Amino acid sequence: TENSPASSSPRILAIANQKGGVGKTTTAINLSTALAAVGEKVLLIDLDPQGNASTGLGVSAASRGVTTYDVLSGDYRLEAAIAETDIPGLRLAPAGVDLAGAEIELIEAERRHFRLADAIEEYGETQTGGEISYILIDCPPSLSLLTINALAASDAVIIPLQCEFFALEGLSQIMRTIETVRTRINPSIELQGVVLTMHDRRNNLTNQVEEDVREHLKDKVYRTVIPRNVRISEAPSHGKPALLYDLKCPGSQAYIQLASEVIQRERARPRPKRELPIEY
Ligand code: ADP
Ligand code: MG
Repeated sequence: TENSPASSSPRILAIANQKGGVGKTTTAINLSTALAAVGEKVLLIDLDPQGNASTGLGVSAASRGVTTYDVLSGDYRLEAAIAETDIPGLRLAPAGVDLAGAEIELIEAERRHFRLADAIEEYGETQTGGEISYILIDCPPSLSLLTINALAASDAVIIPLQCEFFALEGLSQIMRTIETVRTRINPSIELQGVVLTMHDRRNNLTNQVEEDVREHLKDKVYRTVIPRNVRISEAPSHGKPALLYDLKCPGSQAYIQLASEVIQRERARPRPKRELPIEY
């Protein structure tokens, strides 16, 4: 039937780029919030030991109980880590600094690439249907075991890209990693899209890089670009997504637009046969 578990399983999107400071966490927070604002049920998984997504959503380090480290290490189920946020429809699995140690601790662990995938699958089995429609994963700034765990668990990747001099080199590196993951670990992983962040129309280099990236990746680059906007950078210190801090600012509006593009791409995706309603 239309309510089969297959059709209600969440879409899992990793927000990844091995470069730091390109807008991964900002995108994870604000895209999650924008998706929740249009009625999606969203879980944001913080997989960066810096825990910026957790702090940015108002979950202070002191108030974090079970974290994603405890989930990867196998001590707790994902369910135990999930906390409510102030945003209706948005839940968070926070990260703690101990996550930095997971890299080394997992090196010899069983199914070390699939710790997160296994935890998400187990979590899905406990859900009676459709509680979560999107899972977003905020990745650390590296192509480490943590990022591999995110890619192994994901249906698709969103790559935030800052339009600066070495942007294309950085982009080919993450694209190669996705390719490697596809051949060895997760054959169904796709690129959802590349989002240009901290964009400045008055800057010639920005415009040149944008042109190059669009020429290379065509419609894999979202039409929406995220402008450089001081309101976006102020929001985290208030423990709020930009959308709550200043809904009208150009950055917030851009993230709302991005969410609608992401949803459009998900809806346009060809469905596996088993998900078709029985009448077909
Ligand atoms: P990453 O997670 O890739 O390391 P962040 O999302 O933490 O990157 O962003 C790096 C810094 O840039 C942060 O201080 C953030 O507030 C700021 N920033 C991100 N996006 C924007 C934007 N559109 N306009 C202005 N500042 C931004
Ligand atoms: Mg980050």
